[in-house]
Amino acid sequence: MNKNTSKNKNIYAKLAEKAAESTDLHLLIKNIIAETLDYMQAASGSIMVYDNEEDSLKLYASSSHPLLSKDKIKSKTTKVSKSDSIAARVFQTGTPIVCAKMTNKNSSKLKAARSNDEGSFLSIPLTLTKKTIGVMNFNRTPDQPSFTEDDLTKISGINTLIASLIDKENLLERIETNRKEITALYQMSNMLSEANDFKGRLEEFLTKLANELGMKRSAIIRTINTKYKDSIKQKLEIIASHRLNKNQLENMFKSATEKIRHKLLETSVYDANNEDVPLTLLFDDGNESSEMYCIPLFVEDEGLYFLIVSRDFVEDDEAQAKKHYRFLQVISHNISSAITREKMLKTIWNNQEILRESAERNKIFFEMSKDLGSSLDPYIILQKAFNQFNKVISFTTISILLYDDLDATYKLIVQPAEPISLKYQNNLTEKIVNLFKDYPCEPILTKSNLTTPTFFNPQNQGNKQITTFKHELHLPIILGNSVKGLIHLARKGDEEFTSHELDITSQFTGIFITSIKNALIHKRTEKLAFTDPLTELYNHRFFQETLSQEFTRSQRYKKPLSLMIIDIDFFKKFNDTYGHLVGDKVLKHVSAIFKSSMRDKIDTVARYGGEEFGVILPETSLEGAITFAERIRRKVEESFIEEGDKKLKVTLSIGVSCISVTNCTKTSDIIEAADQALYKAKAEGRNQVQGYNEPEVIYEKTH
Ligand code: GH3
Ligand code: MG
Ligand code: MG
Repeated sequence: MNKNTSKNKNIYAKLAEKAAESTDLHLLIKNIIAETLDYMQAASGSIMVYDNEEDSLKLYASSSHPLLSKDKIKSKTTKVSKSDSIAARVFQTGTPIVCAKMTNKNSSKLKAARSNDEGSFLSIPLTLTKKTIGVMNFNRTPDQPSFTEDDLTKISGINTLIASLIDKENLLERIETNRKEITALYQMSNMLSEANDFKGRLEEFLTKLANELGMKRSAIIRTINTKYKDSIKQKLEIIASHRLNKNQLENMFKSATEKIRHKLLETSVYDANNEDVPLTLLFDDGNESSEMYCIPLFVEDEGLYFLIVSRDFVEDDEAQAKKHYRFLQVISHNISSAITREKMLKTIWNNQEILRESAERNKIFFEMSKDLGSSLDPYIILQKAFNQFNKVISFTTISILLYDDLDATYKLIVQPAEPISLKYQNNLTEKIVNLFKDYPCEPILTKSNLTTPTFFNPQNQGNKQITTFKHELHLPIILGNSVKGLIHLARKGDEEFTSHELDITSQFTGIFITSIKNALIHKRTEKLAFTDPLTELYNHRFFQETLSQEFTRSQRYKKPLSLMIIDIDFFKKFNDTYGHLVGDKVLKHVSAIFKSSMRDKIDTVARYGGEEFGVILPETSLEGAITFAERIRRKVEESFIEEGDKKLKVTLSIGVSCISVTNCTKTSDIIEAADQALYKAKAEGRNQVQGYNEPEVIYEKTH
C-alpha cells in the first residue's frame, strides 16, 4: 500500500506539473492520458465522453504507445443503448471492467465484444459527483502482462481528476457557445444601429431573434399605464413585431392570469432568487399552449417598453428557459439603447424642424418689421401686422384692444381673416371686454371710454359669414409698467391654441407693439405740430394740407367737396368790452360746438386765423354744407358764455363754397369762393350763412 501511495503521489505530482504547463485544456488532457498510459504501462488509451443528444459515447481523446499502430484505435462513436461494447457497459453500470489477455477461457460474448483485440483491456467509468460522464480505456498488447484488479486500485482517483478536467472543458465549450451567441447578438445589435427605417430594422431583428432561439413570435411593445392596476386595461401598443398582431398580443395577455400579468409587467428585472417572478407567462396561442418571455426594456418614456418572445410550451425545461431568459435580457439592453437613440434622433430632428419653422417665422417677422416701419399710421401698422401674422398662425380673427392716451379712450381693432357676421362681432367685443376686466389695467375700461370697435375688412370676401368662434388665445399688452391692452386670437375650427402658439403670439406682440408705440408717439407729435393750442382744433397748416389732399381726391373721384369759413361777428368789440381772456374763452366755446357738430374722421375743422375757422367737408354738396353751416350758426346763436353773473352771446357769419358748383382749378379758388360768400354774409347783416354761386347761377336765379 505504501508503495502504491508513493507511486500515486508521483503521478499526481507529474499531472499537476502538466496542468501548470498548459492553458489548452484539450492538449492538457491528452498529455495527462499519455502520462497515465505510461504510469499504467498501457500501450494505448482513450477517453470517451457521453453525448446526451446523440445518446452515444464519443471519442474525446486518445493516445497510443509508439508500438501500437494507429488503426488499432476503435470506431470513434459508440451508441450506448444499442451497443454491448465494454465501454458502453462500463458507462451504463458505472463499474470498471478488467479483461485479461484473450484465452480460450474467455466467454464467447466477451470475445465478440472485443473483436480482434487480443491484448488485455481495462475500462473505468469517469465519474463526477455520482454522475458518469464517460469512460477511460487502457489497452495492453498481447505481449504485455494482463491488467489485473490491482491496476484498478492504481488508477483510482485519477479518473475523478480527468473527469473534472473534461467537465471543465465542457464548461469552457459552453462558454465558447455563449461567446458565439454573443457574437450573434452583436451582429443583431448592429442591425439595430443602421440608418433609416427603424421599425423595419426592429422587425428584421425580431425575426432573426425568434429564429436564433427557435421561438415563434416576438415583439417590442409599449404599454401606457392607466389608473387601473390590471394590465389588461393598459393600452398595449406594438412598436415592431414578428408574427404577432394586436389581437394576438391582447389574447396573450388576456389568457394569462391577472396575477402573473402583474408580475411580468411590473417587475423591472428578473430575479433568479425570487421564486414569485415567473420566467415565462403561459397563454393559449390559438389551440396551442404557449409561453412567453416578457423582458422590460429601459427606455425613458411615459410608457413602459417590453420585449416579448413566445414559444410552444415545453415541460420541465427550466434550464433552457433560464438560458433563453438570460440571452433575451442581454439583447434587451441593445434594444433599449437602440430605441433610446432613435427617440433621441427624433427629438433632434424635431428640434431642427422647430428651428426651421422658427427661421421661417423670423423671416416673416423681419418682413413685418420692415413693413411696420414703412408707416406711421397705427391703423395701417396693425392691419399690416395682422395680415403677416396670419401667415404664422391661423386664426379667424385677431383683435387688439389698446389704450390711446391721445384721446384717453380704449380702441378695439379687429382683423378678420374671413368674413364674420354681426353676431360674431358683438360676441367678440363682449368677450374681449369681459376678459380685459380681469387685468389690472390703467385706466379701467368702461363703456364710456371704449370707442366703437373697428372691424377691418377681411381679404377673402364672398364666403359665407362665420357666426361663432370656438377657441381663443389672449395676452395682455404691457406698455411701461401697466397693462394697456389685450391681444386676442379666435378660431372657429376644432384646433385648440397651443402653448407654442402663445409663445409665438407673445413674440409677435413684442414686435408690432414697438411700432405701435412709435406710431402713437408720432401721432402725438404730429398732433402737436398741427394743433392750435388754444382751441385744440387743427391749425392753419394742417387745414391747408388737408384741403389740398381732399381737393385732389375729390377731383380724381369726381366727388363734391365743400368748405366753410366761419367768422365771429364784431369780435373786436367783444374783446374791447370784456378783455382778451374772455375773448379766448369765446374762441374755445365756439370751437367745442364746431367739434361736436362734425362727422368724426370725415370733416376737418381748423382755426384758420384769429377768430376765423375753416371746415373741410368731403363728399358734401353745397346744399348739404349750407344746411350744416346753418345748424352750427344756430347752435352758437342759441348758446351763451358764462362770465361771472353775465351770460354773453356771440353770432357767426359763415361763407360756404363747393368745388362742384364753383369752377375751381386749385385749392385757393375754393377758399376764395368761401371768402366771397362770407363777405356777402357780413355785408348782408351778419349772423347768417351764404353759399357761393357762380355768376351764371346767380344770373339764372334772377332770371
Ligand atoms: P366782423 O364782424 O366784421 O368780423 O368784426 P370783427 O370785430 O370781428 O372784425 P375783425 O375781423 O377785424 O376783428 C378780429 C378781431 O379778433 C381782432 C382781434 O382783436 C381779435 N382776435 C384775433 N385773434 C384773437 C385771439 O386769439 N384772442 C382774442 N381774444 N382775440 C383775437
Ligand atoms: Mg375776422
Ligand atoms: Mg369777425
